[in-house]
Amino acid sequence: MQQGEASKTVRTTCPYCGVGCGVLATPQPDGSMAIAGDPEHPANFGRLCSKGSALGETLALSNRLLQPEVDGVVTSWDAALERVASTFSRTIAEHGPDAVAIYGSGQLLTEDYYVANKLMKGFIGSGNMDTNSRLCMASSVAGHKRAFGSDTVPGNYEDLELADLIVLVGSNLGWCHPVLYQRITKAKAERPGMRVVLIDPRRTASADLADLHLPVQSDGDSALFVGLLSHLSTAGAIDAGFVADHTEGSTEALAVADHWPVERVAQATGIPETDVRRFYDWFAGTERVVTVYSQGVNQSGVGTDKVNAIINAHLLTGRIGKPGMGPFSVTGQPNAMGGREVGGLANTLAAHMDFTPEAIDRVGRFWNSTSVATKAGLKAVDLFAAVARGEVKALWIMATNPVDSMPEADAVRAALAACPFVVVSDMTDRTDTVLHAHVRLPAAGWGEKDGTVTNSERRISRQRPFLPLPGAARPDWWIISQVAQRMGFGAAFDYAGPADIFAEHAALTAFENDGTRDLDLAGLVGADYESLAPVQWPVRAQSRTRLFGDGRFFTPDQRARFVAVVPPEPIRPAPGQLILNTGRVRDHWHTMTRTGKTARLSAHYAEPFAELHPLDAAELGITPATLVRLGNAHGSAIVRALVTDRQQRGHVFAPMHWTDQFASNGRVDALVTARTDAISGQPALKMAQVAAMPFIVERYGFFVARQRPALATDYWAIAEAPDGVRGELGFVEEPGDWDAWLRAAFALPAAARVHSVIDSGSGRRSFAVLADRQLQLALYVAATPVAVARQWAVDLLKADDVSASMVLAGRPGADRPDAGAIVCSCFSVGRNTIAGAVTEQGCTTVEAVGACTRAGTNCGSCRAEIRGIIDAHRLVAAAE
Ligand code: SF4
Repeated sequence: MQQGEASKTVRTTCPYCGVGCGVLATPQPDGSMAIAGDPEHPANFGRLCSKGSALGETLALSNRLLQPEVDGVVTSWDAALERVASTFSRTIAEHGPDAVAIYGSGQLLTEDYYVANKLMKGFIGSGNMDTNSRLCMASSVAGHKRAFGSDTVPGNYEDLELADLIVLVGSNLGWCHPVLYQRITKAKAERPGMRVVLIDPRRTASADLADLHLPVQSDGDSALFVGLLSHLSTAGAIDAGFVADHTEGSTEALAVADHWPVERVAQATGIPETDVRRFYDWFAGTERVVTVYSQGVNQSGVGTDKVNAIINAHLLTGRIGKPGMGPFSVTGQPNAMGGREVGGLANTLAAHMDFTPEAIDRVGRFWNSTSVATKAGLKAVDLFAAVARGEVKALWIMATNPVDSMPEADAVRAALAACPFVVVSDMTDRTDTVLHAHVRLPAAGWGEKDGTVTNSERRISRQRPFLPLPGAARPDWWIISQVAQRMGFGAAFDYAGPADIFAEHAALTAFENDGTRDLDLAGLVGADYESLAPVQWPVRAQSRTRLFGDGRFFTPDQRARFVAVVPPEPIRPAPGQLILNTGRVRDHWHTMTRTGKTARLSAHYAEPFAELHPLDAAELGITPATLVRLGNAHGSAIVRALVTDRQQRGHVFAPMHWTDQFASNGRVDALVTARTDAISGQPALKMAQVAAMPFIVERYGFFVARQRPALATDYWAIAEAPDGVRGELGFVEEPGDWDAWLRAAFALPAAARVHSVIDSGSGRRSFAVLADRQLQLALYVAATPVAVARQWAVDLLKADDVSASMVLAGRPGADRPDAGAIVCSCFSVGRNTIAGAVTEQGCTTVEAVGACTRAGTNCGSCRAEIRGIIDAHRLVAAAE
């Protein structure tokens, strides 16, 4: 398919997770965009997950930042760029280059990242360019560098299908990298001998695929893998030839590991001895092993050591650089890898080169600059601390939302509020960070941007535009280049477009490389950028077929390094506290600036929540579906209690997506301590200590409405619904006049008729406002969590013939059955519909439910939940 020729379909790449799926975008006659998986893309071969499938629903211009603004006033690009350039130049002149900083994002394209990094490290002369990838996989980078001498992910996605044992560590692949999960699921179905082990404190959705789940204590994975090293040695699973010929440090690593017999590992990790042994025996006895890890490993105070403990096990067995085996860090963000490649992390200079004298000289000659930074800059947590201390006085934030995503997020918010000069380039005008910007720069979004991204398997893919730039929005590379030119660095930033930038980036990776650096794009210098097909690096003239396949690494002596990892004490809850594990839900992405725009993706979880073990909840006096307050010295959050035995005792899981734009107090990263890994600087985002307690309200509420209300209730959470919004409410004190409260909150005209009724038995109040037999507003209020058929109420917004009595009754009639909470987002299939397929149509397998309802037949991310519904009915039937 050629771009812009016979077909209008554009071949591009998904902007969400690090799987990097190929996407086909085809404009429709009605102005919408049809989105499909690209069958030719090697990451997904046509598959998409629920988020990718819904991309077409996120393209509306609502909430877009469309014009430059200075001090809250719309202005011209000239004026805005001049203000940024002059303020940065003046700050540098008065306080030195380290008084300014850029904080980027894995959402930036490689070309954007390259220009930003070149400006800061190459011409301003400071290392202060860091990125939100610091929160994501900085510990993997540091672990790779210690072991391999380079930040190299050695594996391919195909290895996941070839492996006989897949070990998932701290990775809920089923929800966070769903297409990879589907590839493994298919391979496992075809090769029943294939095994999957899940190592995670929670029984996540990925447990559905696991033959063995090891519910490890927080940071206990370190002891688990150190003990594994010892076991591999005693079990005779060492590849002695590989270790002798291609590694250093095995003796020292094993000397530490030998202090960790199975019994001690079991005690430290909280995992039964028999399960530890089973895992160790499977690992020792299986040649083709891939260990997949992500944030559960990286987001820790000892993340780098954990990465090396995993790599050690692969080095000892020689299981690296060969098909179906190896350690495999999967990145969270769409272009975390591209950012690493250009030098987006503050401790990297450029193109996988660090701040060594040779690299500084080389990069300076390549960029023709004499002011290249000579030392690493501030890593994210240190950067915002420096902003708080007033040392960084001018900060440019690009495509990210640190007011919500950084640890101790309230302190970050205060630091930005006090910072003399904050620039934010973003596509969204309503983030908690944009609110603090002195200058707001409207950036191009997905579908408008033009460039490349690199996925978790080092595959570079094009993101191509298929929409015009809206308003005055401009690509990030253009914005940065314009500021650079106004700062006096014109010649070095005179790019005609992203193809120029990519060519320069590729040339830098190849410059004086000679096989000494892993990142080498020599083969792409001069490539046809427009038609560039997905390509995995290195792309050298004489490419090694598989990185590390020849046992050569990128250390000075080309030998890999074992690291003698000493396991820390696993983190256990302090008295009266729970360990807060933050993470993602299936259908939302980061701070919801894009996924929060779609009703379909907002239906799976429509409000922030905390997953608590039933015994912890009972001890704390927290009942299911009530509100719970999580708090510690850094902040607090109020969320819904989700009581489930998937959670381990002493732990609480809360998603990191909710912001002040979607909930009254759902920013869970406000509670996360800014403790970082000493080597990588990555914060321990999954291990804060918090107290949990009931948040007592006098009244709960649930509403659906055509328009977003202005809410100031003690608790509120709002989500998109088809043709309107839906929301949850909590009132510490019941309003004295409900009619007045309702009219004010929903801005009802004085003439609007509010129908209402009070249920004499339960005391529940129901309100309805209609116009022309269409629902405008329904509100239900009760002393306990509102028991109303929510999906039915949401669906009423789409109905044409609605009566007040029907709405006030709060329950569906026979003509409009309640689908129940959405389980399958791809086809909007609810829990009740699936349950009906099980009980009334006799479906006993996920496949049978799919045949009846279509649920689970597209991306498959909901298959674990479908299986749970089937199992629940099986248990009930057995009990009867
Ligand atoms: S798995 Fe889903 S979110 Fe990730 S790249 Fe693919 S479609 Fe996008």
